[in-house]
Amino acid sequence: MQSSRGLNVSETVVIESPAHLADVLADATAHRIAILPIGGGTCLSTGLPTNEHYRALDLSQLSGIENYIPTDMTASFLAGTPLRTVRAALAENGQELPIDLASDDEGTIGGLVATGYSGARRYGQGTLKDVLIGCEYVRGDGLLAKAGGMTVKNVSGFEVSRLLHGSWGSLAVLTRVNLKVLPRPKADRTFVWQDSTLAAALDRQVRFLTSFPGCIAMETTGCGDRWTTAIRFAGRESALQDYQLQLSNAEGTPDAVLDEWPLPPSTEDNPCLVANNPVEQSRGFALMLSTHQGVNALSISLPTGTVRAELDSGLVAAREITTHAEGLWMIEGGDPDWKRDAAIWGPGRQDIAVAQAVKDQFDPGNILNRGRLFI
Ligand SMILES: Cc1cc2nc3c(=O)[nH]c(=O)nc-3n(C[C@H](O)[C@H](O)[C@H](O)COP(=O)(O)OP(=O)(O)OC[C@H]3O[C@@H](n4cnc5c(N)ncnc54)[C@H](O)[C@@H]3O)c2cc1C
Repeated sequence: MQSSRGLNVSETVVIESPAHLADVLADATAHRIAILPIGGGTCLSTGLPTNEHYRALDLSQLSGIENYIPTDMTASFLAGTPLRTVRAALAENGQELPIDLASDDEGTIGGLVATGYSGARRYGQGTLKDVLIGCEYVRGDGLLAKAGGMTVKNVSGFEVSRLLHGSWGSLAVLTRVNLKVLPRPKADRTFVWQDSTLAAALDRQVRFLTSFPGCIAMETTGCGDRWTTAIRFAGRESALQDYQLQLSNAEGTPDAVLDEWPLPPSTEDNPCLVANNPVEQSRGFALMLSTHQGVNALSISLPTGTVRAELDSGLVAAREITTHAEGLWMIEGGDPDWKRDAAIWGPGRQDIAVAQAVKDQFDPGNILNRGRLFI
């Protein structure tokens, strides 16, 4: 028996093709075997603690570029393709996806679609869901299916690709994803200011929102009496110089000017609370968290309404923090013992019956990621 990030893995099957995957899932449904699809394995510590013994699926052989036409600005990747391969292929043609990834990210494109991660750039450019134009997948019951295609405007019927985005591999295993890609901007610039209180930093974001709605991202990060607020623009060099002048007039000279958006360090080891709510609610929630014992660091993007709080892994009062959390939130990472005391997937959901009906349709044997999600 192996353990993969606190999950019990009794055997691992290396998936050779979509047809092979369909056979493996049909067999697992017939025998009620719990399945754990693994891409890069970077996010497996997120989810409920479970005593299931999983048959893990190694998707690393489903790797490579299926179809990439830079002039059409569309690309199709096998789901197990490493993100660094995706990024390098697009960069060669001056293109990119609307996400910022750490250069050492070991994730895969299928895993990124499954987790639905995005960052502060979601404000200006949306998430991967907005550029997901099609996919191939295998449902829990072993049905191999396709949704969408390779053209940007071919939507008819229900957009299954978007349903699978952020489903954490609980409905189907992705084998291929088709994406609309973006041109890399000619220039990309981030302006940074320091504040000694979170309230001052968030007021700065509110002013930015009013005066500079054309930015693509803004975020405040920090703790205690050290808060860094960054605002980011992309476009022509001359336009960015204009923005710098206007910003300096309004806010004073920036403390730093960067050519790359500063990514927060990965928080896999410590649990991290992520909440998404309207601006005013996010502001109040962030201010409350900043004074709460056991919150190590915060990052807040008011335009996207996202508050991320890195929590002390030894925190006894996990329940207390989640009791204060409002709206939609979840907890990433964290060790299994800690998580037994916290509601990982947020508050009780009103749409649980709908979610369960969708799960039953896609995965009637309840084999995919059994026990890790809220259904
Ligand atoms: C802005 C931003 C912030 C991020 N922040 C963090 C962070 O704080 N911590 C962190 O760990 N990562 C973070 N990531 C991303 C992460 O590192 C990976 O890039 C990615 O999201 C997971 O890929 P993976 O292949 O490792 O997935 P895995 O860890 O292998 O799997 C994650 C989940 O997806 C499922 N899955 C994997 N592949 C498939 C598939 N082909 N079909 C269906 N389901 C599948 C798994 O069963 C599992 O439930 C961030 C990414 C972005 C863009």
